[in-house]
Amino acid sequence: MEERIKQEVAAWLAFYRELGIDAFYRRPPGSASALPLWVTTRNEGDERDEIASGSAPSLQQNGIPLEQSPQRSSPELPPPRPEARAATSVPPVPAPERRASVPLPGTPARAMSLFDAPAPPRRKHETLEEIRADLGECRRCKLAGGRKTIVFGEGNPRAAVMFIGEGPGADEDDQGRPFVGRAGQLLNRMLQLVGIKREDVYIANVVKCRPPGNRAPEKDEVEACSPFLDRQIEAIKPRLICCLGAPAVKTILGAKEGILKIRGQLFDYGGTKVMPTVHPAYVLRNPRDEKLLREDFEKICDFLRTK
Ligand code: URA
Repeated sequence: MEERIKQEVAAWLAFYRELGIDAFYRRPPGSASALPLWVTTRNEGDERDEIASGSAPSLQQNGIPLEQSPQRSSPELPPPRPEARAATSVPPVPAPERRASVPLPGTPARAMSLFDAPAPPRRKHETLEEIRADLGECRRCKLAGGRKTIVFGEGNPRAAVMFIGEGPGADEDDQGRPFVGRAGQLLNRMLQLVGIKREDVYIANVVKCRPPGNRAPEKDEVEACSPFLDRQIEAIKPRLICCLGAPAVKTILGAKEGILKIRGQLFDYGGTKVMPTVHPAYVLRNPRDEKLLREDFEKICDFLRTK
């Protein structure tokens, strides 16, 4: 790299560091924005809005809007920095550090002068199909070796509520679909109980390949997989994310508090509300706690009824 460019890059990095922005990663030119997710802004006129403004009817179940309204007008603010979180009306949680490492499609990297720097690149809206294509026959972590099928996620690409579990089990690995085993049947029953159709929500997991023996996903596996989950969230833009169990809470919110302590509360994840609840598999092992899951699903319903 030329000395002059090196100096300019160093100056830019120092400038960003002063602003509190210090997470950067390299992508090949032409493949991604060099800015972390929370520095970039969402493309107002994005493809999603174009699709959304078409004639697709808005889904409604028991008076609950289950699909995003085409003119969703939430302000496009970047997620609060760690110190800003405490000012929100929901319980503060540690900033999701993982955010900063999301691989983003965007404009090519190019050498910039400090004085003629372009506006930060706007992120191109991605579809779930594009994200799935990018995932490919993934071998980014060691779970690839033991899986039968990648479980990408399924459901309404414009769902108002997205459920995130831990990782596929044997049934999911066989069928390539999330939550189709016993835990899935319980999830279906809870949805039914509160009047939500499974096909109206989106369901994904922290990792997309089955961990051996159904163990919890390990840090490197979560790190390899969660950028894709982030992109799915960004593509769907749900109003509410429901984290099923502690690994999902830790991945999304970075929170280490016990799930029983924080379940049923609303947290903020860069402008999207997040509700942790117990994992259906936990309820299968502790049937007396089914009421907790039910209570939280009723809260989800209440939330979806609010505008
Ligand atoms: N448990 C999970 O966390 N996810 C699934 O898809 C199935 C069971």
